[in-house]
Amino acid sequence: AKIRIGLLFGGRSGEHEVSINSAQAIAQALQTGENDHKYDVIPVYIQKNGVWIAGETADEVLESKTPLSPEDTNPYQLWQFPPELQEVEVWFPVLHGPNGEDGTIQGLLTLMQVPFVGSGVLGSAVGMDKIAMKMAFAQAGLPQVKYKAVERSQIWSNPCIFPKLCDDIEAGLGYPCFVKPANLGSSVGIAKARSHSELEAALDSAASYDRRIVIEAGVTARELECAVLGNDNPKASVVGEITFDSDFYDYETKYTEGRSQIHIPASLPEKVIKQIQEMAIQAFKTVDASGLARVDFFYVEETQAIYLNEINTLPGFTKFSMYPQLWQATGISFEQLVDKLIQLALEK
Ligand code: ADP
Ligand code: MG
Ligand code: MG
Repeated sequence: AKIRIGLLFGGRSGEHEVSINSAQAIAQALQTGENDHKYDVIPVYIQKNGVWIAGETADEVLESKTPLSPEDTNPYQLWQFPPELQEVEVWFPVLHGPNGEDGTIQGLLTLMQVPFVGSGVLGSAVGMDKIAMKMAFAQAGLPQVKYKAVERSQIWSNPCIFPKLCDDIEAGLGYPCFVKPANLGSSVGIAKARSHSELEAALDSAASYDRRIVIEAGVTARELECAVLGNDNPKASVVGEITFDSDFYDYETKYTEGRSQIHIPASLPEKVIKQIQEMAIQAFKTVDASGLARVDFFYVEETQAIYLNEINTLPGFTKFSMYPQLWQATGISFEQLVDKLIQLALEK
């Protein structure tokens, strides 16, 4: 009999639309060739207000790639799960960012006692929170840019310490520096600060997105990405590069067609490729990721310095996304990749 795959997409996050695109590509791959004989797809759409929908409406959202704009709902309705959920044998969460990539859904699926694709609670949560992630990487001896973690309360509720905080950051990291909410993705809420006044404004703005904020020394570097696949014995793909004309890889650049280019494989010395692949696997293990993750790096050509930037435990998964393209170039097709991910979920 076919295995019933619950494709979980949409979600309560700024990356709702991206998620629908990724899910459509995965649904298609699960209904192509060999996979079509092995799997049945049950689309389950999480609306922007958090309510889960299966059946025809979910199919329609997936096909049209048009999100529903729901009425506000009482939180209790989130738990009136559609009956189709009981038939799911393996979950495939295709959710990016908060409430999907951060361990919340993974906790729920763990309680349901149904296997699911990707990292569990710990790997997802540590991979999502940039402060927890950086602390884990630092402890593992992985190279990163200089950074400082601060809390919203230091920015907002204490006017006496805020100027001192900005002075400390300026002295420790210099300009430009990058101010980031700890728990977002897709560059949402990230600002580049080039002066004291920009730093103040960036901190104030970041505090509106998250209680936890990280500030990093800015580097002028190439941006490289490596895909990891596996559970206990994960493998690294070839290395890819992102290029763009804008000041940094911000939200608009990420999601406006033609603004950024993917280069696979990146043109690099063999030694650098090896180092990146090893660091990618180490990063994967350090946060306790499983199944899949994309690990992103900064590479300073002049000094050949490699800095680990971040791990994404549920990377973009459209036909054009870096993660599946990296595996394509490594010899695993999109269809083989989704098949492999489901097998890895069943093996865990
Ligand atoms: P997200 O998880 O939202 O993708 P990132 O930490 O990857 O956040 O930052 C988004 C982008 O901002 C990066 O791809 C890069 O272009 C730029 N950036 C972030 N941190 C730095 C830094 N320390 N130096 C230079 N550029 C940075
Ligand atoms: Mg990220
Ligand atoms: Mg990033």
